[in-house]
Amino acid sequence: MNRALVVGAGGGGLAAALELATNGMDVTVLESHICAGGCAGTFYHKNYRFDAGATLAGGFNKNGPMDIMSHRFNINWKGKADDIGMKVHLHGHPSITRWVDSESWKKERLQQFGTSGEKFWNWQEYTSNLLWKLAMQHPAWPPRKISDLLRLLEMIQTAGWFSGKHSSFLKLLQLSQDAFRPLKSRIMEVPEKMRQFIDAQLLISAQATSSNANALYSAAALDLSRQGVMHSEGGMGGICEQMVEKLRSNHAKVLFKKEITMPLWDGNRIFGAETKRGERFEADVIIVNLTRENASKLMEKSPYHQKFVSSAPPRDGWGAFMVYTGIDSSAVKNLEGLHHQLVKKQPLGNGNSVFLSISPEWDKTRAPENRRAITLSTHTSMKFWWNLFQEDKKTYEIEKERMAKKMLKVTETIIPGIREASDLILTGTPITFQRFTKRLHGWVGGFPQTNLFRSQSPCLAPGLWMVGDSIFPGQSLAAVCMGGMRVGREISKEIGALSSYDYS
Ligand SMILES: Cc1cc2nc3c(=O)[nH]c(=O)nc-3n(C[C@H](O)[C@H](O)[C@H](O)COP(=O)(O)OP(=O)(O)OC[C@H]3O[C@@H](n4cnc5c(N)ncnc54)[C@H](O)[C@@H]3O)c2cc1C
Repeated sequence: MNRALVVGAGGGGLAAALELATNGMDVTVLESHICAGGCAGTFYHKNYRFDAGATLAGGFNKNGPMDIMSHRFNINWKGKADDIGMKVHLHGHPSITRWVDSESWKKERLQQFGTSGEKFWNWQEYTSNLLWKLAMQHPAWPPRKISDLLRLLEMIQTAGWFSGKHSSFLKLLQLSQDAFRPLKSRIMEVPEKMRQFIDAQLLISAQATSSNANALYSAAALDLSRQGVMHSEGGMGGICEQMVEKLRSNHAKVLFKKEITMPLWDGNRIFGAETKRGERFEADVIIVNLTRENASKLMEKSPYHQKFVSSAPPRDGWGAFMVYTGIDSSAVKNLEGLHHQLVKKQPLGNGNSVFLSISPEWDKTRAPENRRAITLSTHTSMKFWWNLFQEDKKTYEIEKERMAKKMLKVTETIIPGIREASDLILTGTPITFQRFTKRLHGWVGGFPQTNLFRSQSPCLAPGLWMVGDSIFPGQSLAAVCMGGMRVGREISKEIGALSSYDYS
């Protein structure tokens, strides 16, 4: 039996591991932390269970990524679906509800943005439907071989791009243009409020705003709510815990507190990895659930390092600043919806915009009686926090407090008295993310989706693969799961172990 080693139990690693185990491979997952989930994990503190990074679980509607996983691996996700994806509060405007249901969302946006935005939304939904359909068939991206390219063209055709009332030529032209331009070119004439809404949504789903985010990627990224939102029992970490349970019931091993520090090479081929404590694990295939920078560090002594570094896209992107607070339930009793995006002013990030999620009242695992666990996040510069941390610890602490205050103040607009209602306030910076997820410099959320062709190939060397938000389709739990399954399929296909499953 072929042996696979998966380094890291984030969503990408676990999905790849499930695909390989389902195809009959002997799988071992090694995770450095004490629990699974990474950026989409949940941690305990003083009887609260806080989502560490990701809070909104999307992709659960029929044929969404998480629904496909549920069928493929026979996992019955524990949690409750919501008909509200999130509420977006732009400063000085009434809140906008991102309904999951298409018709309700159409009604809402007509009311909020008028009919002049409809041409854009019709394009967005049409394009997104095709892209999600295509993505679900797990195309190899970027294509590595001519056969990958031919398969991709076949998939585009079956996804329906060439059928319908418009001519194939026009559709192909439109697809090619949007593949190379930012979304900005499609929203020149929309109302200012709608542009602000789109920018705020894109920052969290594509890590870039409309000026830079690729148009095709943006069409799909703007659709996360429409793909189905669920509140997972036990928080985001509950989803990864279910994946771990399923792996174990499939005879795979998932071992915690195993930090891999050294890959083992036999000439040009990797044959295993060693932990910080010197334990050795051997395998035929190694999959690293790491960022590109972490993978590069791990490959430093390999014959493939130079090629990897020179083929890699430039490093850009974000860190996150977090506030975790436990509050009295009465403070949120009149608030509709559990996910809220608050935009106070431009530029977005650094406390000017905040994403806020509240644990569901029904989930008694998340907070003590009559209390709720809240996670607030904002995009931030990694460099700023690292400079302070390394050079001036006192100012680092002062700045942490200042940022937390700023974010709580923005939150006051929808939860008045949040500070008084809190019995606990914790903060997290890029330094915290590096410590708990091992992501170098606390780089989170994947690379800004400015160019479809900047994706890293998941195959790093013979027998060495990468999954997670550094590969296509990038960030979000649903996306890394999709990417992980795709890589698991590619590996299984290469070794002739792929079991049949209809993803279409
Ligand atoms: C603040 C914030 C908010 C977000 N909001 C959302 C959201 O609302 N919805 C959403 O879907 N997504 C959201 N995301 C994005 C999402 O969390 C990530 O894209 C996704 O979880 C990343 O998964 P991954 O597979 O790349 O692995 P990671 O989450 O990075 O997990 C990798 C795992 O590998 C382990 N590891 C690392 N190095 C080693 C080693 N050497 N040896 C062994 N183990 C190792 C780590 O401990 C970790 O468990 C958010 C992210 C952040 C930071």
